[in-house]
Amino acid sequence: MSEIIPHWLTKQAFLAPKQIAIETKEGDKITFLELNEKSEQFAKKLASSGVTNGAHVGIFSTNNVSMVIAIHALSYLGAVSVMLNTKLTKEELHYQISDGKVRTVLACDSLGPSIRQMNFPVDVKTFTDIDKQQESEVTLLQEINLDDAFTIIYTSGTTGFPKGVVHTFGNHWWSATGSALNLGLRAEDKWLAALPIFHVSGLSIFIRSAIYGMPVYLLEKFDEKNVHEAIMYREVTIVSIVTVMLQRLINLLEEGGNRYPPSFRCMLLGGGPAPEPLLEKAKKRNIPVFQSYGMTETASQIVTLSPEDALNKIGSAGKPLFPAQLKINSQNNDQVGEILVKGPMVTKGYFNNSDATKKAVANGWLATGDLGYVDQSGFLYVVDRRKDLIISGGENIYPSEIESVLSGMDEVKEVGVVGKNDDTWGKVPVAFIVGNSTLTEEACIAYAANYLAKYKLPKQIYFIDKLPRNASNKLVRASLLELLS
Ligand code: ATP
Ligand code: MG
Repeated sequence: MSEIIPHWLTKQAFLAPKQIAIETKEGDKITFLELNEKSEQFAKKLASSGVTNGAHVGIFSTNNVSMVIAIHALSYLGAVSVMLNTKLTKEELHYQISDGKVRTVLACDSLGPSIRQMNFPVDVKTFTDIDKQQESEVTLLQEINLDDAFTIIYTSGTTGFPKGVVHTFGNHWWSATGSALNLGLRAEDKWLAALPIFHVSGLSIFIRSAIYGMPVYLLEKFDEKNVHEAIMYREVTIVSIVTVMLQRLINLLEEGGNRYPPSFRCMLLGGGPAPEPLLEKAKKRNIPVFQSYGMTETASQIVTLSPEDALNKIGSAGKPLFPAQLKINSQNNDQVGEILVKGPMVTKGYFNNSDATKKAVANGWLATGDLGYVDQSGFLYVVDRRKDLIISGGENIYPSEIESVLSGMDEVKEVGVVGKNDDTWGKVPVAFIVGNSTLTEEACIAYAANYLAKYKLPKQIYFIDKLPRNASNKLVRASLLELLS
């Protein structure tokens, strides 16, 4: 039996019509009632331009209020938003548009011309094009069936081809409620959205907003000065960030010699591994960092380090959210194994890719492709991706452990580690470093030797100008391997 709830935005507009839903740096504010009205109007205009129930509509936009309206509007029509990363190359976009069966793309006004130029076989409309349409007499959905598809978001493609993750309304609903049960909700909460909304980490903030009745402070993009300012002076209480941003925010705090206000209660850190030296720095600055673990498939974080444990379990990603479960598929004796997760926020599968779905999902458990272990109290430690494990002379070496150590050197800006073929050991770890010109191979290895067993020490250091990263800014280790061949 499918579960039906009232449409979340209509409901919130009814419960808290005057509450601010979104505010921007430029000072624009929009209430839940206005957001609801605008989304319904936009839905009727979309219907006039031929968008129907079940259609897959690409969204190609920078962060802005119109983008949020468009996503809500599509939900009123029962159409599915396919979130497109604006940093993708033409080929990558083409793949996602055709794999995702996208027929219409809605673009923000500034990006409309660029996607039109790519000449994809789709109907491209800007938000302004739609605004000019008449409203059609269509009946909008005032109920949400939690089993229905709401969004498709492609994975970052860090380990291979991106896969289109289908999120139902239920996945988003349970992600939002699971997060609230963990972080709690306060009347004064205001969540800062600086991550791209085309990623689930950014999008999920707006779903929480609709469900909690909570204002979002929206930034067009991550810029450390604007994020810093929002935390210091705009009464933001929670912000979602990824690791590269944390370092820059700490630098700004240090430069100014200041601290965040006590009302700022949570910096939700996710998306990738966080090196321990960085977490230590944040701890020194009293920044309330909550490590979290999640992926596109889990509709945002599924494991989070709760407030009480944040400081004494540094390096851990925490415990699964209330509605979620976790287990480790461990075959070796160091307790490290593949992380499996289960819960109503976990996708039922990939769009148009039953092979990948079969490989990843069985009996509700999603095999994440990540390795980790759980300590005696049930705290998860994410170790690395399974594909990147280096087996050297029979020993398991996790590249991210070595990266984390080397990133503790002041002269190291970025580092990536992979396993190089070796006649004696099978594989040996080597490191690619972007660093100061004064840095030497000897200094790096000597530093690492303070923290790592000998077999884990990089056998070679390559200094390069830039690490290969994908459109989500994630390190692509496979491309480092190509540099070796
Ligand atoms: P693809 O699945 O296409 O290879 P991807 O896995 O990078 O790409 P995302 O869904 O954006 O795509 O990223 C989720 C991944 O990010 C996780 O599976 C994990 O590898 C990594 N990750 C997330 N949180 C953490 C964390 N706290 N520690 C370590 N890794 C993390
Ligand atoms: Mg993945």
